[in-house]
Amino acid sequence: MLSCHGIRHNLIDANLEGMLHLFSQAQPFDRAVDAWTRRACKNRDKNLSALQHPDLYHHLDRYSRTIRDIGRVLEKASLPGTKVGLADYAQKGLSPVRSSDLLAAAEIPERNAFYPYFRDRLGRMLERDLPSAVGISLNYLSQALTAFAMIGFVRREHPGIRIILGGGLVTSWQKGLGGKNPFAGLVDHMVAGQGENKLLSLLGISADGDALPTPDYRSLPRDQYLSPGSILPYSASTGCYWNKCAFCPEKAEGNPFIPVPQRQVMADLALLTEEAHPKLIHLLDNAVSPAVLTALAKDSPGIPWYGFVRIGPHLAETDFCLALKKSGCVMLKLGIESGDQHLLDRLEKGASVDMAAAVLGNLRKAGIATYVYLLFGTPEETEGAARKTLDFTVQHSDTIDFLNLAIFNMPVCRQNTSGIKTRGFYEGDLSLYTDFEHPHGWDRKRVRLFLERVFKRHPAISPILKNEPVTFTSNHAPFFVMGRAGDRTS
Ligand code: SF4
Repeated sequence: MLSCHGIRHNLIDANLEGMLHLFSQAQPFDRAVDAWTRRACKNRDKNLSALQHPDLYHHLDRYSRTIRDIGRVLEKASLPGTKVGLADYAQKGLSPVRSSDLLAAAEIPERNAFYPYFRDRLGRMLERDLPSAVGISLNYLSQALTAFAMIGFVRREHPGIRIILGGGLVTSWQKGLGGKNPFAGLVDHMVAGQGENKLLSLLGISADGDALPTPDYRSLPRDQYLSPGSILPYSASTGCYWNKCAFCPEKAEGNPFIPVPQRQVMADLALLTEEAHPKLIHLLDNAVSPAVLTALAKDSPGIPWYGFVRIGPHLAETDFCLALKKSGCVMLKLGIESGDQHLLDRLEKGASVDMAAAVLGNLRKAGIATYVYLLFGTPEETEGAARKTLDFTVQHSDTIDFLNLAIFNMPVCRQNTSGIKTRGFYEGDLSLYTDFEHPHGWDRKRVRLFLERVFKRHPAISPILKNEPVTFTSNHAPFFVMGRAGDRTS
């Protein structure tokens, strides 16, 4: 988008760069105190290369050990008072859901474990290019403290630079706070939702109504990511075409459904795959629409792909699933949520238990792996309903490759809470969720006990749970599927 309008800019993936920098700073292995750290530090380069090689994805045990060893090196390379992991970041005394703590992180950026990285990298870049604005995309809570430390550094070193903050997490904050900016004076603009046109307008260019151009990832270090070959991320839409599920943050936040025209989706995928030669396409949509699935089934992008889909009549047709498989579909993520029809109706899922069973069966027949998401503890659920979900999962366990079990969090923006007593914020003013009194007494503690003592221990379910790749979960799961003997897409 910026290139299309001739705006000079630099794009960096500070997440990847910061982690690799920290990794390279780890102590020499012979100085480590314990055997695990010595092994992890000694093998750090070997482990990183193994993660980039398909062989590792044939051996779940070896993979898990490699991930844990890499995590150990990061942990040991962290500054005192901080703890860095492959997918998390903690700093003593600071919470990413408290605006005062984020301001504190910005106040003393030196306390952040990634400070040496961004001091050098951003420092040099800002000195050299003297930009008028810095934009930061913040998507996960684990990134928030470091994002604010970076903002504090930029603000202190270059007070004249405008700071623009956007991304998924910022969108949720903005919706929860009714558009207020709790970081005024530090962050100049907080951008909610699809931010491309807004960013242009902040830079003085009017682009309202312009179609989004093909994403441009060329300046990113594609060969350095922690996967066996590059993954092409692509969003064919934002929001959700269904947008009705009672528990869904997308609905609670009122995010509109904005699809990329289907013809453009196919043209973008063709261009991006030719340019980047990815090993895998990750469709990032909350739910890939049936229209896009149909287009993919007719016209294969020529590269294995996966994404999140809704249970619907299209997938209940065996031929359609076979066509998806032929087009390169290697895995589908499915929000089945519950095995209780009454509950699904109350949640407005718009799908039946029978249809979910038919879809799972079809995907198994077609050879497409399934990553099933189940949700427990919604205000509408009872223990009886949860037990029906257990029965459903056991009955269809031979069609489920991976399982994700989630306990419901009540979004702060959820409007329909009549009859439910909410109890204020969990942790801080930026918390995305609120505590609530479960109307049937099926509270988090009881749900957790049920999951730990009953659900996860069932002999048909526990082997499925053990399939889950640690830390990277569904992001690496397709590589395990592609690594299986006989998979056409490998
Ligand atoms: S299908 Fe998924 S994204 Fe869409 S409303 Fe339901 S839960 Fe939300």
